[in-house]
Amino acid sequence: MKQLTRREAMQTGTGLVVGAAAALAGRAQLSAQGGAVNPIPPPARDPRYALPPTWARELKQLAPNVYAYTQGGGPDMSGPGVSNAGVIVGPDYMLAIDALQGPIPAKDFISRAQQVGRGKPIARLVNTHHHGDHVAGNQFFTGAEISSHPYCRNEVLKAVASTPKTWTATPNLARGGEPRVLVPPTVTFKDDLTYFLGDTEVRFVFAGPAHTWGDLMAYLPQHKILFAGDVAFFWVAPYANNSYITKWIETCDKIAGWDVDVIVPGHGPIAGKKELAEMANYFRVLGVEARKRYDAKMTAGAAAADIRLGRFDNWVGPERLIMDTVRWYQEWDGTLTPDYDANRVREATIEYNAIKAGAKKTGAIIPWERMIAAAEAC
Ligand SMILES: [Zn+2]
Repeated sequence: MKQLTRREAMQTGTGLVVGAAAALAGRAQLSAQGGAVNPIPPPARDPRYALPPTWARELKQLAPNVYAYTQGGGPDMSGPGVSNAGVIVGPDYMLAIDALQGPIPAKDFISRAQQVGRGKPIARLVNTHHHGDHVAGNQFFTGAEISSHPYCRNEVLKAVASTPKTWTATPNLARGGEPRVLVPPTVTFKDDLTYFLGDTEVRFVFAGPAHTWGDLMAYLPQHKILFAGDVAFFWVAPYANNSYITKWIETCDKIAGWDVDVIVPGHGPIAGKKELAEMANYFRVLGVEARKRYDAKMTAGAAAADIRLGRFDNWVGPERLIMDTVRWYQEWDGTLTPDYDANRVREATIEYNAIKAGAKKTGAIIPWERMIAAAEAC
């Protein structure tokens, strides 16, 4: 079957899967438009384990002239697209790391950066990868030179034509009606690139393929700080929609050997190597559980419905194990590509929903179109 882009999958929606949906969706009712599913409670938490901490929306100073921007979150308050960013203040200009996902967070980040930068321009912006929550705010960094890995630039270019002309009203993202344009990076580099902002060395390092085939991280060796982009998700279930999970785990293991004290993740609170190792453990545990079921010829959707992840079930966004199970399956059956297989995730999610509904279990039923919409930004 031809692989759809995320947007095509959202637009064609029910038409392609109505037969499968009717067979699989159980009590979940698909509407005529877009395949909406009745609202369903979120997956049950595991009371034996801790809940995620709560973290603030703030621009936090990590070292002289080095700041991380977090949008805030907690057990019930960090959805897809709620990403982090960073800014380094130099003698003449500021360098930003990631642009966030829309006018409200991007403008908030920029205005806080301008306060600490005392009016210096943000002259450079580096996108860690192509996902919307890291590049969609590029338009607000007026006058900045935007750079990325070539894979990231190519993926952004592909999305330019289908980007709506205005922002849709979305809580904490956009008031609605603001002019919207997706601005691609204009400078690319494949390996490492180091900026010296006064005394601060900012070393961009290619980390892919991991979360995507174009991941960049910013390492500040003097301060032992790593802005990891979406190579790191802390207390938030990682999105593997474009990922090579085996290589991603290897990247985490490599970072464990680096001289790093502080890691700013793409999602979740600022922490360190211990939390990065935990995220790798999420994939390891899921990998072991999924592999047993793969070998037993279970489908990815059925496997995801059957798997419990213990402490990781308490992370923000636990339903992402469906997408992540599909991604593991793709490694094992030889169908892995850099692209997101929206059809396969949708089928797995419908099956997952049907199994959970049929078993009358509490919660754990996820509308597939929400998964696909969420994959636009992660
Ligand atoms: Zn991402």
